[in-house]
Amino acid sequence: MATLMRAARLHEAGKPMRIDQIEVPEPRPDDVLVRVEACGVIPNMNAIFSGALWNHLPPLPASVGLDASGVVVALGARARGAKVGDRVYVNPFLSCRTCHYCVAGKPMLCSEWALQGYFGYVPASQRLLADYPYGGFAEYITAAPERLVKLPDSVTHEQAARFGYLGTSFSGLRAGRVGVGSWVIINGITGTLGVGATLLALGMGATRIMGFGRNVDVLARLRALAPDRISTLVLGDADIPEWVRARTEGVGADMLLDCSGRAASAEHTLAAIDGLKHGGVAVNIGALTEKLQLSPFQFMNRCTEFRGSNWFTTQEGQIMAEMAGAGIIDLGAWETRAFPLDQVQQALDLVKTRPGGFTNIVVRPQL
Ligand SMILES: [Zn+2]
Repeated sequence: MATLMRAARLHEAGKPMRIDQIEVPEPRPDDVLVRVEACGVIPNMNAIFSGALWNHLPPLPASVGLDASGVVVALGARARGAKVGDRVYVNPFLSCRTCHYCVAGKPMLCSEWALQGYFGYVPASQRLLADYPYGGFAEYITAAPERLVKLPDSVTHEQAARFGYLGTSFSGLRAGRVGVGSWVIINGITGTLGVGATLLALGMGATRIMGFGRNVDVLARLRALAPDRISTLVLGDADIPEWVRARTEGVGADMLLDCSGRAASAEHTLAAIDGLKHGGVAVNIGALTEKLQLSPFQFMNRCTEFRGSNWFTTQEGQIMAEMAGAGIIDLGAWETRAFPLDQVQQALDLVKTRPGGFTNIVVRPQL
């Protein structure tokens, strides 16, 4: 095997990456080496790499790239649970194993969590990023076997490279107890999180899916997925709670999945919460930062909930892979735009244009 590999590395926050030749990593004894076939590019990536947000970038220069899918090519001496040749998605979520939450068996709540190839939650997350210093915009990365989602043959690497945002939507829908017969509101349905959430909610048995967004073409494509189950509203065209109640026997929806992004307005989120039925759950997965003027009195009277959900477990990733393999979710709805590694900046520029959630932008390091 080659001893050198190409990796897109961030040398300075907010500046274009450089393609560097670095050594192919040796997996640590408990880890595996994965040959990256595809790595996803997501809307928030440029903002994260700008270094201007709250997140803590790995020490620079850093090999970056969040959602890698590929093939296991080598195992450390003590690595278990994977074998050479496995087709896998690498869940980049890193937890410390020793904090209050990890010891309690809740690693998704880890106080030092980090995302491999992306950022850490707090400064102390750097030690986790140092254990796995390779991102998916590289020919090879290392990973722990317990973070590998085994892919059915029918799931392509390009589709699996979208699992990060798909999994975030899946975990959010599960937090909202979506199941057979659920009535679900998706705020921000036209984006990467929203389109994935729609495919999943259909597969999870939701019978009424009500989404809001601005991109009229994407809204029409969403309705076409299941015209009897999906209705869409162009934001501003109607009063949201009234529009929802008109589609839910006058009572409202069971669940709101709020995919509003960091810079979105809280106004639509508040209106959508008003469209919940008694006992309904609102779950935010889009990182909306504007403060909400909530009425605790209304939450008490209606027994409603508002909560957040961050990323997803590897087990949830495996369930999604199985759902895709069994044809319960249709990942073929995405259109992939693939870029070779030396065009990673073009891929990051394309995602800035917000092409909509049906577009799946990936970097293919082996091209
Ligand atoms: Zn922890």
